[in-house]
Amino acid sequence: MSGFDTVIVVDWSAAQGVRPIGKDAIWIGVVSQGEAEEPVHMPTRLAAEAWLADRLRAEIATGRRVLAGFDFPFGYPAGFARQVTGSDDPLVLWDWLAERIEDDAKGVNNRFEIASQLNRIFTGVGPFWGKPWQWKERFDDIPFKGTDRTQTTVAEKRACDTVAKASSSVWQLNAHPTVGGQALMGLPMLSRLRRIDGVAVWPFQDWRDAPAVLAEIWPGLIESAVPKDGIRDRHQVRLLAHVLAALPADELAAMMQIDAPEEGWILGAEHRDHLTGLARNAPPEAYGARVKPDHSDLTPPPLSNDCFALPPGVDWTPVDTALDLLRKRLRGVTGTESVAVLGADGRILASAVNAIRANPPAPNAAVDGYGFAHSATGDGAQSLPLTNGRAAAGAPFTGTVPQGHAIRILTGAILPNGVDTVVLEEDTRTDATHVAFNGPVKPGANTRRAGEDVDVGAPLFDDGHRLTPPDLALLSATGSATVLVRKRLRVGVLSTGDELASPGATEDPARTYDANRPMLLAIAARWGHEAVDLGHVADNRDILRAALDAADCHAILTSGGASAGDEDHVSALLRDEGALSSWRIALKPGRPLALGMRGGVPVFGLPGNPVAAFVCALIFARPALSVLAGGTWVEPEGFTVPADFSKMKKPGRREYLRARMGPDGVQVFGSEGSGRISGLSWADGLVELKEGAATITPGDPVHFLPYASFGLV
Ligand code: AMP
Ligand code: MG
Repeated sequence: MSGFDTVIVVDWSAAQGVRPIGKDAIWIGVVSQGEAEEPVHMPTRLAAEAWLADRLRAEIATGRRVLAGFDFPFGYPAGFARQVTGSDDPLVLWDWLAERIEDDAKGVNNRFEIASQLNRIFTGVGPFWGKPWQWKERFDDIPFKGTDRTQTTVAEKRACDTVAKASSSVWQLNAHPTVGGQALMGLPMLSRLRRIDGVAVWPFQDWRDAPAVLAEIWPGLIESAVPKDGIRDRHQVRLLAHVLAALPADELAAMMQIDAPEEGWILGAEHRDHLTGLARNAPPEAYGARVKPDHSDLTPPPLSNDCFALPPGVDWTPVDTALDLLRKRLRGVTGTESVAVLGADGRILASAVNAIRANPPAPNAAVDGYGFAHSATGDGAQSLPLTNGRAAAGAPFTGTVPQGHAIRILTGAILPNGVDTVVLEEDTRTDATHVAFNGPVKPGANTRRAGEDVDVGAPLFDDGHRLTPPDLALLSATGSATVLVRKRLRVGVLSTGDELASPGATEDPARTYDANRPMLLAIAARWGHEAVDLGHVADNRDILRAALDAADCHAILTSGGASAGDEDHVSALLRDEGALSSWRIALKPGRPLALGMRGGVPVFGLPGNPVAAFVCALIFARPALSVLAGGTWVEPEGFTVPADFSKMKKPGRREYLRARMGPDGVQVFGSEGSGRISGLSWADGLVELKEGAATITPGDPVHFLPYASFGLV
C-alpha cells in the first residue's frame, strides 16, 4: 500500500529514569505487511535504541522496506544549526549532539547541561528555557520562563510547526510538552541509527530508493481520533502506524515531496484532516483488537528454483567449485524471534548487537584496599586519615572522600567521589583512624576504568554470528536481556530404499537397517538445527512424493536413491517436479549427490552409503544449512600433522579418509570401502587429500580435520 512493507512509529520520551509501562514511557507501534503488532514498551532510551537498531537491521536483511517515524523535530528553526556547528546541515548538528549528550541504562542524562552550553553560544538569554523547580539554583543559562528570553537569532518555530498547528516549541525543556528535551535526547540516537547500512533520513537525504527511511512524525495530527481510555501513547503509535501503512504509495510519496533541507518537516503536516479521517475509519486492529502476537517474526521469501543449477557442460565438478556455487546462491530462509539471552546458546543472531551499557559500567576497585585521590600523595611514607564508612561491590559509598583522606574499599566497589587510586590492602598498615603506606603509588593504581573492557555502544557481534557460552556472558555484562535471533532451521531427514528396515524389526538378511537417519538427525541437531525425523520410505515415487509433501521443513536431507539408476526415485522426482541438479562431484567417497529445489525447499539428496552420506553431509550440507539458518558460511579448521600411513593417490578427485590421531601421527582406517560404517566410529576425523596425485609415506605432512572442526563435538 504505502510503498513501505513495514511502518514503525516511535513515541519518544526525554524522561529521566527507567519508565514503567504507562505514559511518559517510550512506545513503539508497528504495522508490517498489513498486520498490526502489539505496541512495545521500552523502559529506557538505550533499550529503545537497541530494539530499533535490531529491527531496522532485521527488516533490511530480510529485504523489507521500512519507514520509521519519530515524534520529535529532526531540525531546529533556521539558523540554529549554523550558529552551533558552522554548518546548515542538520545532520552535522545531530553528530554534535551525539558527541555530547550522555544517557545511561537508568535514563540518567545530561540534557540540561548541554542545553546550558547551547544557550551560552547565543547572545542574550535562550533560546532553550524551562527547568524543574528543584534546579532553580542550577543551570543559570536556562531561564524558568519562556518570556524571560531575550535572544533574537532564531525563530520560535519552524515553518512546519506553524503549518501543523503544533503548540509545542522545540526550545521548551520542561513541563508538558517537552519536545525540546525529546529532540536533545532523540537526535543523538538518530545520528547512530542513520549510520546503519541502507538507512536514509527524510527529507535531508535521498530517501527514494533507501531500504529504510527515518522521518519526523507527529501523533498530534490525528489527535482527535485517538481513544481517550487506557494508555494514550500506546493508542497513538498503533493508530498512526496504521494510518501511514494504509496510505496509498503515490499519496505518501506526494506527502514526502518536501523541500526543507534545514528545518525538516513533519510528515503529513499539511494533511491533518485527511490523516484524522483515515484514523477514524481504521479497522478494529488499529484500535488494539486482534493484533498479531509475535511481533518479531519476519519471514524472508523462499529461495528460487534454480538455486542449484550447474553451469552447462560441466562433467565432474570439483569440490571447491560446488561449494562456491552453494555459497553464492544460498541465503537465510528462516524468520526471526526475540529470545532471552539465558536461552540463546547456539542461536544465530538476526542482527548485529552493540553494547547497551559499558563494562564495567562505572570506575571501580580492582582489589581490596584503601582508596584516595592520587594528587594528595607523594613519595615516601604516607599516612592518610580514614573517612568513616566503606565502599563495597553493590553497596557504593555515596558521600565524597575529602582530599587527603582515604576510605576502605573492596573489590568491585564503585570509586566514590574523591577517589581515583587504590592501594592494595597488603601494602598498608592501619589503625582505627589512619592508613599508612609507602609512596609513590601510580595514579589510578588498582582501579578499573569505566568501559575499559567494552564501551557503551561498542559493536559486539555481527548479524549471522552463532552465540557461544562466553558470548552470553558478554551480552549479559553489557546489558542485553534478549537478542533477536533467527528461528531455528527445521531440517527434515528422510531415508529411502526398499531394502531398509528399522533395528528391532523382524530379522531378515535381505534387509538393511537404516543407519543414515539416526546419524543425520543427530548431526543436524548438533549443528543447532531443529532435526525433524521424516522416517524411511520405499523406492516408490508416490510414497516419496507424499513424504516430501507432508514435511514442514526449511531444508531436507535424504539418503539413498540419488543416482540416475532405475530405483533412484529421489533424483527422478526432483527432476520431474522440482529443479534438480545431479552433481557429479569429483569426491571420494561421495558421488552421487542430487541437489534440488522442491516448492522453495532445498533438498540435499545424499548418497545411500553411510560413509559417503556422512562425508557429503559434513562437506556440503554443513555450510549450506548454516547459511540457510541465517548464519555464516562455515569451513572446517584443520591442521597439518605427520602421516602414520602410506598411500598412492590417483589424480582427479578429492578424497577424505577416515582417520584418527595416534602417537606417531595420523592413522587411517584399514579399508576405504564406503559401506564400512565401523570406520566412521573408529575415526575421530578425516584426512583430506586434495585433487592432485600424491604419494604419501609415513612422516609426510597431511591435512587432518577433526570431527570437532565440523561442529561434531
Ligand atoms: P543407493 O544410493 O540407494 O543406491 O544406496 C547405496 C547403498 O547404500 C546400498 O547398499 C543401500 O542399501 C545403502 N543404504 C542406503 N540407504 C541406507 C541407509 N539409510 N542405511 C544404511 N544403508 C543404506
Ligand atoms: Mg537405494
